[in-house]
Amino acid sequence: MPRRAARTPPTSRAGRTSPASRTARTTAALPPDAACPCGLPARYGDCCGPLHAGTAAAPTAERLMRSRYAAFAVGDAAYLLRTWAAAVRPPELDLDPAVRWTGLDILGTTGGSAFHAEGTVEFRARYRLDGRDGEQRENSRFVREGGLWVYVEALT
Ligand SMILES: [Zn+2]
Repeated sequence: MPRRAARTPPTSRAGRTSPASRTARTTAALPPDAACPCGLPARYGDCCGPLHAGTAAAPTAERLMRSRYAAFAVGDAAYLLRTWAAAVRPPELDLDPAVRWTGLDILGTTGGSAFHAEGTVEFRARYRLDGRDGEQRENSRFVREGGLWVYVEALT
C-alpha cells in the first residue's frame, strides 16, 4: 500500500465533516409547510427537510442532487459538506447570501438508483443575483459512500 499516504484530505483527520464550524446547525430556516425548493411538488417537511435534518437518506442520486440544491436555497452549508465525497470535500463552505436560488430543472440522469453504486445528474439551477436572473448548468457525478449517496464532481 505505498499509495496510501499520497493524499490526505484536510477534513479526514478530524473524522468529521466540518471541524471548524459551530455545532450542528441542522434545521434550516424554512417551515415544514413551505413548498420544497427542490422542485418536487411536496412540502419541505415531507421532502428535503428530513434529509437536511439527518433523519432520512436520499434513495437516489437525483434525490440527493435535489436535496443539495434545496440546501443551497435554505443556506444549509453543513448538509452540503456532509453529502460531499470525503476525498474531495472542501474544508468549509461559505454560501453567498446575496444569491437567491429560484428553481431547479433536472435535465437527465444515468444510473443513480437503488441498484447502482454510481450515477450522474444533469441539471439547471436558476438563481437571482443583483436583480438579474442567472443559471448554472452542470452534469454532476455521484457515488455511494458507506451506502449513502454523495456528490463527487462536475463532469461538465
Ligand atoms: Zn425537496
